[in-house]
Amino acid sequence: MSRFSSIWATEIDHLRADTPRNPVLYFAPETLAETHRRLRAGFAGEVTYAVKANDNPGVIETLAQGGMRAFDVASPAEIAALRALVPGAALHYNNPVRGRDEIALAVEAGVTSYAVDGFGEFDKLCAQVPKGREMAVRLALPVAGAAYHFGTKFGEGPEGAATLLRAVVAAGYTPAMTFHPGTQCEDPAAWTQYIETCAEVAQAAGVRLERLNLGGGFPSDRGQGARLQPIFDAIEAAVTRAFRAHRPKLLCEPGRAMVAEAFTAAFRVKAERACGGLFLNDGIYGLLAELPIMGPHHRLRVVSPEGVMRRGAPRPRVLYGPTCDSLDRLPDTVDLPDDVVEGDYVIFDGIGAYSTATNTRFNGYGAYDIVTVRRSGHRALGG
Ligand SMILES: *Cc1c(COP(=O)(O)O)cnc(C)c1O
Repeated sequence: MSRFSSIWATEIDHLRADTPRNPVLYFAPETLAETHRRLRAGFAGEVTYAVKANDNPGVIETLAQGGMRAFDVASPAEIAALRALVPGAALHYNNPVRGRDEIALAVEAGVTSYAVDGFGEFDKLCAQVPKGREMAVRLALPVAGAAYHFGTKFGEGPEGAATLLRAVVAAGYTPAMTFHPGTQCEDPAAWTQYIETCAEVAQAAGVRLERLNLGGGFPSDRGQGARLQPIFDAIEAAVTRAFRAHRPKLLCEPGRAMVAEAFTAAFRVKAERACGGLFLNDGIYGLLAELPIMGPHHRLRVVSPEGVMRRGAPRPRVLYGPTCDSLDRLPDTVDLPDDVVEGDYVIFDGIGAYSTATNTRFNGYGAYDIVTVRRSGHRALGG
């Protein structure tokens, strides 16, 4: 923990002592370590992490200390960052479209696994990647169930995937398959349909898969009570049913479900409008960039600058961000205690995924501090 100059017991202690003017993110490494342990216990394969969800060095180091040996990376910058932080880690380069210069950098960095979703990209990889490395053919299906899904941008349909898989083996690479059902998927069918089709593709290709990468997309608790264990159980049953004696090694690469719970944000109420709308010092161009896509975040608390919890009756409020753009408004309304006043802090729990990653400096806002805490105040109900 030498990286952190001081560690606070909870975010409330820090808010009371510091009354910060900028947005603050509270990072609880112990919460992250616990989530990592729970994912490892619940998933029957190797658990890796999608770096793009939150590339904070403290996050990467905490996961490495917890025994993580492989990471999903998408760009040369992520590859370089991981090489510096965890030199021995295996890197899975699962962004299926790369420039030739990017492939060269990945080969030089010793990347061990590459996702591939078409012959054009496959040929580019073959020209540079040493034989024996893993190539994971990325399957795309029109699967519903995610907050938003990725199948429209990447992936090959079942027939093309079978052809590609045969080519992977013929070219001397280790055959694997992968998919990524989207993000915040709460329906286990998102995985089970993919698993069944992957087994059919492998059989049609006459290829025995070394590994099957089930992607990320696992839900975090955004106040809707999402749970992971039913998804893990459905995955296990589907793999057993679909692959039988040809069971590949499994891996997954959660981003959101791994890191969301480890961060809590505190945003100050700058102003209250006559109509009841509240202006915060962060919004859709800051740490809350994904809310317009994901919908309202319901795990909210309000505390006074003295650290006293507001306990008034819930009242629906519109929340605005600080910029001059009228789009900078959080979706729908959220219930806040009716005794909230200017100067209070609205605390967003479970905000570690895709917050720092997409923060901008639009309109001169976007500066924030990260403070380490032993525990974030409000825990999710569990996996
Ligand atoms: C974004 C991404 C992930 C992580 O997704 P989450 O929804 O954050 O779990 C995993 N794998 C790939 C290939 C991705 O693009």
